[in-house]
Amino acid sequence: MSKIIIPLARPYLEGNELKYVQECIKGGWISSLGKFVAKFEEQFSTFCDSRYGISTSNGTAAIHLALETLGIGKGDQVIVPDLTFVATANAVYYTGAKPVFVDSETLTWNIDPQKIEEKITPKTRAIIVVHIYGHPAQMDKILNVAKEHNLYVIEDACEAHGALFKGRKVGSISHLGVFSFYGNKIISTGEGGMITTNNKKLNERARFLRDHAMSKNKRYFHPEVGFNYRLTNIQAAIGLAQLEKINYIIRKKIEIAHTYNSLLKDSKEIILPPQEKCVKNVYWMYSILVKNGKRDRLMENLKDCGIESRPFFIPMHRLPAYRLKEKFPVSDNLSRQGINLPCFVEIRNSEIEHICNKIKKILRRK
Ligand SMILES: *Cc1c(COP(=O)(O)O)cnc(C)c1O
Repeated sequence: MSKIIIPLARPYLEGNELKYVQECIKGGWISSLGKFVAKFEEQFSTFCDSRYGISTSNGTAAIHLALETLGIGKGDQVIVPDLTFVATANAVYYTGAKPVFVDSETLTWNIDPQKIEEKITPKTRAIIVVHIYGHPAQMDKILNVAKEHNLYVIEDACEAHGALFKGRKVGSISHLGVFSFYGNKIISTGEGGMITTNNKKLNERARFLRDHAMSKNKRYFHPEVGFNYRLTNIQAAIGLAQLEKINYIIRKKIEIAHTYNSLLKDSKEIILPPQEKCVKNVYWMYSILVKNGKRDRLMENLKDCGIESRPFFIPMHRLPAYRLKEKFPVSDNLSRQGINLPCFVEIRNSEIEHICNKIKKILRRK
């Protein structure tokens, strides 16, 4: 095993994290009651230009809760991009509904808006959009299709905190947005998640279902089967400290991506990450495509140099639980060629230069 010298991701904890966590412990508020939870929900939803924020125990729980909030369940179908992290599809599966996969587009690597309509049936209830690796999907086209067919739209913004589509914050453009605060996400609470919405009824419904669906007026009376998907005060304390630095973190990520772009732009075997004019890409990961079947070898050689990287997600239609014979040529191609490179706040320019030099050297070999 070669030693990892430059990791793919690393949380940036140089702020008030420790101070706020100490406050929780000293005051005894370590569970899901306490001032940090409400503060974090309020300030994160404000950051997202959304009226309400409902914190959850993780991003997967946030997607599941969003679907349950909309009343989606057995017999329903939900449109999901074929290229995403498995949690998006699994959350649909948990409700008893069926995830229906749509191929990616080459332009943004996100769900192809042109291919959604052909997958809509009388059973379709919602579309989950994923803003993959930090680049927003084409929300205007997707919202048009949804409106025409009377479908809900959920934005899985787990990889795109702070990204903009035509000046609007992702997670606030549709009925419900969902975010993750896992260790490698743009900001982290260790594990954690959030639903954002502008709709008062959806906010109330999501909170009710998240907190065991307990009646407001009668303790221990539960008119429905609910969940315990709460975030703790300790996690929210970390989240609040992270949120104080989120604009700096995003600025850094964009800067890192520009440095990579300038160093890799002349390589003929590399396709740089998408950057549409009308969006702000927040580069959760710095991601490139490697042509000519050289991706896997590149990753192996980088590992030998102590540089961590990740391949793109395996498309949903290739996983045992969701296997399909149908063809998804674009997502298959992205999945075969895509690689995520280190993109964390404290990476040094000299490290990025080192990574790019190695990449170019490895790709020059026959
Ligand atoms: C990380 C992620 C999730 C799940 O978040 P967890 O907090 O790990 O449960 C869901 N969807 C996407 C696209 C993600 O990247």
